[in-house]
Amino acid sequence: MSLIDPLLVLQEFDTKIADLGRKIATLPKHRAIKEAELSDTLRRQLQAEQGLAPESAEAAAPVDFDSAIAGIRAEIAEVDERLAAAKTELEEQKARRAECAAGISPQHLRFYERLAISHHPTIVKLEGNICSGCHLAQPPSSAHLIKHDTEFVTCGMCGRILY
Ligand SMILES: [Zn+2]
Repeated sequence: MSLIDPLLVLQEFDTKIADLGRKIATLPKHRAIKEAELSDTLRRQLQAEQGLAPESAEAAAPVDFDSAIAGIRAEIAEVDERLAAAKTELEEQKARRAECAAGISPQHLRFYERLAISHHPTIVKLEGNICSGCHLAQPPSSAHLIKHDTEFVTCGMCGRILY
């Protein structure tokens, strides 16, 4: 069994999990902007109904507040759906990552995870004799050792795992 292949699969899960985490962190901000837009529109609707609309070219044009409000509410609902879907997807990816991690020796897993704290991506291709993580040339023995796939080959400069 290849040493590096299961770790590459694990790295793919970690990339997806990180992307989903960013999405889940961003969507509530997007929702807050839409909420502010909604309350502003509701306020303007109330002003218009009370005849308090400010005299401006924009305000003079008839505004269909009801459809504007319905539109913003639909956008908020869509953000909520996307957030719920991202959370479900995150749980699925975490479960699949755990399955994958269970098949990797604890020693190799620790090595990868320790490196993954500070290096993204953690496992990078050796392109010719160049580490594609930091672009430093590697000794000729690296390519040879990678072919053997019996021990981790790391970059002498950045410490990433090479494959
Ligand atoms: Zn490197």
